[in-house]
Amino acid sequence: MIRVQIIACTLPVEQTRMLNRESGRIYTATLINHYRTYRKAAHVWLSPLKHDRVLKAFCGPSFLHAHSYQAAQQDFYEACKTAKALKPSNPLARYPHKRKFFHTTTWKNTGIKVVDGRMRLALARGHEPIWVALPDHLATLPVAAFRQVQLVYSHATKRSCWHITVEDGVVPQPTTDTGMMAVDLGEIHPAACTNGAQATIIACRELRANAQHRNKKTADLQELIARCQPGSRRWKKLVASRKRLQAQTETKQRDMLHKVSRAVVEEATAMQAGTIVMGDVRDVADNTKTEKRLSRENRQKISNWPHGQLRQYVTYKAAAVGIAVELINEAYTSKTCPACGQRNKPKGRNYACSQCGFVGHRDNVGSTNILSKRMTGHLARMLPCETVTYRHPFRRASVVRSDKRHVAGASQNPHLVIPSANDGLPGLEESPAF
Ligand SMILES: [Zn+2]
Repeated sequence: MIRVQIIACTLPVEQTRMLNRESGRIYTATLINHYRTYRKAAHVWLSPLKHDRVLKAFCGPSFLHAHSYQAAQQDFYEACKTAKALKPSNPLARYPHKRKFFHTTTWKNTGIKVVDGRMRLALARGHEPIWVALPDHLATLPVAAFRQVQLVYSHATKRSCWHITVEDGVVPQPTTDTGMMAVDLGEIHPAACTNGAQATIIACRELRANAQHRNKKTADLQELIARCQPGSRRWKKLVASRKRLQAQTETKQRDMLHKVSRAVVEEATAMQAGTIVMGDVRDVADNTKTEKRLSRENRQKISNWPHGQLRQYVTYKAAAVGIAVELINEAYTSKTCPACGQRNKPKGRNYACSQCGFVGHRDNVGSTNILSKRMTGHLARMLPCETVTYRHPFRRASVVRSDKRHVAGASQNPHLVIPSANDGLPGLEESPAF
């Protein structure tokens, strides 16, 4: 399977800037000369494949590897292609027209070698190559596995990193397991999994806390920014810190979602599932305001809920172990009573039926109904499992640091530990420790 691995770049800043500045120069020269030719030579539209020599003459010599050089030129033509494809549906789409002082540098497989666990990235003849130390899981791969390397700079974090595209040699084999696992995506518990006999709830409250933290801090910064003169030194500083905050929270979120999706796929393997059935929540945030379906607070929660990203991560991680992912319409799966079929609106984390008195965990009811719908075509044909296991996809900071942090009553009672495994259990909901 082809995967992109991101590792930090430890090159000196001057060197990374020099590389990406050179790529930017080639990109810009291509752009300028492309339009100049178009204007002056009776609308001749150059292309990198047909006009390789012409373009090379335009851009002049460079210290980059010949294929890195071509990659910078091709990027301009790729952007033209994208604009052309967008034009019919989007009248605002424009062909690339801005000069770039910096541009991501790309090494194709011809410029990459691996020697003793280090990657050698070639530059033009006569220039010393660049050496990159590889982490263990990449160092053992053969040279042929490395397809492409990019030096990517993030404006938000002000750091560069290597994006390494590798073919890891893993050929996904369809699994021999024939079971089925239903997943109910939730806003508090990102995923509730069940196969009818076992139920596991993946709990990760940090996901929502992270989004709320970002929203609050962004609002604070926004207020300060609004008071400044646009373009002033203070304004620039505040805008930069807002960008940095958003980049940091996004990185955290991505990390957590990868861990949650890994946990979901591990659960599916443990439950011997060949298929994962997921509730389709893609339109959950549509028209919530116009139809007055949700309050302002809940609208914010729903719009911050990264369900699409999670679904994407689960899908590709499941594909790597031969498990298929199906989407199913999840209408009424969390409202219908699994025992009698009556529709109730669940309150908090618990589901209680006003007709038959059934009581259960809300997310467990949702996932069981999804499973029932997929297997029988109807809701409420299966009862949820009585015992629910809670699983946290990673070790949490609050647990790791529990010995250092001040917890009310902790000094009197050294055995008091902040609850970890039972997060989300009924009754703990209002606990001030959270
Ligand atoms: Zn009922």
